[in-house]
Amino acid sequence: MKLEGAKAAAQIKNDLSEQCKKLNQKNSDSKIVIFRLGNNPDDISYEQRILKNCREIGLGTKVVSLAESITQDDFIKEITHYDKQDSVLGILIFRPLPKHLDERIIGEAISAERDIDCMNPLNLKKLLLGDLTRIAPCTPEAVMELLKFYDIPLKSKHVVIVNRSMVLGKPLALLLLEEDATVTICHSKTEDLIRMTSQADIVITGIGKPKFFGKEYFKSDSTVIDVGINFTQEGMCGDVDFESVNEYVSAITPVPGGVGTVTSMVLLKHALRGKE
Ligand code: NAP
Repeated sequence: MKLEGAKAAAQIKNDLSEQCKKLNQKNSDSKIVIFRLGNNPDDISYEQRILKNCREIGLGTKVVSLAESITQDDFIKEITHYDKQDSVLGILIFRPLPKHLDERIIGEAISAERDIDCMNPLNLKKLLLGDLTRIAPCTPEAVMELLKFYDIPLKSKHVVIVNRSMVLGKPLALLLLEEDATVTICHSKTEDLIRMTSQADIVITGIGKPKFFGKEYFKSDSTVIDVGINFTQEGMCGDVDFESVNEYVSAITPVPGGVGTVTSMVLLKHALRGKE
C-alpha cells in the first residue's frame, strides 16, 4: 500500500479552512511568520509548500529572509519584533540553523504560544512530560498523523527510527511511546543497522542519504515511513529506494508525496490551535 500524504493532509486542511474563516472574521490580518536564513533548497521547497497551503486555507503569511551570516543578537531582535505583534499567530524558523547560532537561545526568543515547531524549551518540556496541551515538532507529528490516517496499529508494535535529531527522532520516540509502541532509535554509530531495521514492524528513516535503504533493510510485512528529503540530478527522492522496496513491504510512503505533504499542514494546525 502506498501511504499518500495528500489524503491525510486534505482531511486536516478541511478542518483548518473552517477555523480560518471564523478567525478572519475577527482579524483579517492574522498571519504566520516564517524565518529563512540563506537559500537552502530544502527550506525553499518547504516554504513554497507552506505558502500554498496558507493561501488555500485563507491564512496570511510573512516570509522574513535573512543572511545566513546574521549575528545571534540581530536574529533575536528580528524574532522579538514579530513575536510582539497580536496579528502573528505563529512563528517558524527553518532548521538546522547555521552553526554560529545557538538553537536553544533562539528557541527561547519565540514565545511558547507562537512557537509552532516546538523550539521553545517550555514546549519541549511539555512534550517530555506528556502534557495534554503539548505540541510536538511538525515532522514527527506529521508521521503520527499519517500512521493514524491509515490506521496503522502502534500498540505493542516494534518501531525502529533511524534518526536521533531534535526535529525528528527524539520527539517522535516520545509520541510513539504515548501510543504504547516499543521504540528503538538508531543513528550513524549503530552497529549492524540491517539487523535492527529488519526486525521492526515499522521503520522510520530520516538520514538524508538518497535511496540508502534497499529491501534487505526490511521484513516483508513492515510499514516504511520515509522522512528523508534528498535532491539528486534525477530530482527529489527519499532515503528509501522506493522502486525496489515498494513491491516488497506491506506499506510505504513515497517521496515526494509522503510525510512532507502532511508536515506543512501540521504546522498550520499548530498556528491555529485554540484560536477562534
Ligand atoms: P540530521 O540532524 O542530519 O539527522 C540525521 C540523522 O541520521 C542523525 O541522527 C544521524 O546520526 C543519522 N544518520 C546519518 N547517516 C546515517 C547512517 N548511514 N546510518 C544510520 N544513521 C545515520 O537531519 P534532520 O534535520 O533530522 O533531517 C533528516 C532528514 O529528514 C533529512 O533528509 C531532511 O531533509 C528530512 N526532513 C524531512 C522533513 C519532512 O517533512 N519530510 C522535515 C525535516 C527534515 P548521528 O546522530 O549519529 O549523526
